[in-house]
Amino acid sequence: MESEGSEPTTAKSTNPAYTRGEVAGDAENDLASIIASAQELLAWEQTLGGAGFPTPAPSRTPAPAGRTASLDDVRARLQILTEEAAACTRCELHRGRTNSVFARGTADTDLVFVGEGPGYHEDQQGLPFVGRAGQLLDRMIAAMGYDRDGVYICNVVKCRPPENRTPLPTEAQACAHFLVPQLELVGPKAIVALGRCAAENLQVVPPAGPWRGVWGEWRGIPVMPTYHPAFLLRSPQFKKPVWEDLQAVLKVLNREAPKR
Ligand code: URA
Repeated sequence: MESEGSEPTTAKSTNPAYTRGEVAGDAENDLASIIASAQELLAWEQTLGGAGFPTPAPSRTPAPAGRTASLDDVRARLQILTEEAAACTRCELHRGRTNSVFARGTADTDLVFVGEGPGYHEDQQGLPFVGRAGQLLDRMIAAMGYDRDGVYICNVVKCRPPENRTPLPTEAQACAHFLVPQLELVGPKAIVALGRCAAENLQVVPPAGPWRGVWGEWRGIPVMPTYHPAFLLRSPQFKKPVWEDLQAVLKVLNREAPKR
């Protein structure tokens, strides 16, 4: 079962003992048995391939922006990182690049999208998500009610991996030198991890069960992992759950999707 943005179900709210007010006497024993049954239920559900209990949306609604520096300062520091990335030789990916691909959009935003790594078109233009997957991402962003340039978009790695393969862990680690300060400087109220690679590198993939649609946190910022737009181009039937993930993100941001 995938979490699709429904309200969290807690052991307390579903246990009839609580609703009938029978938890007065041996409360500790009752609680221990409720926890034990919940754990059993969870283990059983996971054997069926379930995600476990739906994860609640992060409680910080909306979270204060993590940005501490002024916007001018943030922009100046991002510019220095952009130039550093253009000259970077920290991993082998630099050998194949035409351009490094640092980011597009604005640092003055509450929402960041993190993808995997540049493809052919991105490498040519020096901008993330400008190919077919990028056009789909732009439509998703517009459906959320943002301008194309009203969000911040970047990738786990800044140089194109050969044959568009998934970045190696060593490459992703080397490029965390850029991703970490980049996300800290922008300090959004929510991050959308596009695809499993981004979700793994933001460390929001649960150890077992499905990962899509399950809220995580990166350095205090809520992260929604969802499917990559390139995957949606191949498998459009998954657009619906992705849209549900994006609506859950809007809820955390206290925003509503425009009527379509
Ligand atoms: N896929 C990504 O993950 N990032 C891009 O910039 C383009 C395609």
